[in-house]
Amino acid sequence: MAIKNKENKMIFMIGIDVHCHITHMENPESVVREAMQKLSAIVTVTAEISHAEQALELRSKFPDFVFVSLGLHPEYCMKYSGKEIDSYMKLIRRSRKDVCAIGEVGLDYSWITKSDEQERSKEIFIQMIGLAKELKLPLEIHSRNSDRQKTAIHDTLKILTDEGAKDVVMHCFSGSEEEMNYAIENGYYISFATILCRSKKHQQFAKACDIGSMLLETDSPWLDPDSRELKNRPWKIRQSAQLIAEIKQLSMDEVLRITEENAKRIFRID
Ligand SMILES: [Zn+2]
Repeated sequence: MAIKNKENKMIFMIGIDVHCHITHMENPESVVREAMQKLSAIVTVTAEISHAEQALELRSKFPDFVFVSLGLHPEYCMKYSGKEIDSYMKLIRRSRKDVCAIGEVGLDYSWITKSDEQERSKEIFIQMIGLAKELKLPLEIHSRNSDRQKTAIHDTLKILTDEGAKDVVMHCFSGSEEEMNYAIENGYYISFATILCRSKKHQQFAKACDIGSMLLETDSPWLDPDSRELKNRPWKIRQSAQLIAEIKQLSMDEVLRITEENAKRIFRID
């Protein structure tokens, strides 16, 4: 689809990658420049406290294109003391105007297996939900069961409900279809990662999910649809969009446009 930019030139950029990790890539700025030729915007997500400053710097260089979600992946919860997490939350408050979401945050029982550590990750998750509510920001949720313990996604949904979280994006959702439907009924968005290109289960989810509740993401540099290497890049959402277009009998541009509108609504991107 052709649209006009501020200089009134015709351009062909459409679609938003709502979950990528630019700070985990080599030459992040050149990746951003290439993505700007192909997409409308990207949301770069932090999993680790140490990546927050770099993500905010990228936003200050590309304020109309790079949006930032700041969080703490459950995998890293044990690395930080309560004091360190408090000062991280202060940084997020100070940076409020440059932050479009809190995440990724959530529960992961494949990384965190001991019950006392799972309890600690729940505490931090609840703190982060509180911060999102205080700052009126949506949440980017990471939630993964382990093969042995299939309750992380259930616990995540229960905590979100109990804490009254309203604006929620379920990143790379991997629960059951019943759990997905529960999330959709609560008004959450389901974010489809490029793993869709390789996973029949995720294609089934795409079939069952209304396009009005869908977002596109890469989780790049991970989940490359073309290889097992860390070569995924934001513009590869186009490959998922193509597949979803076939599943939903729409054009690829329609899928990119509708999911872009959904992303703008939840992340309040103009
Ligand atoms: Zn991620």
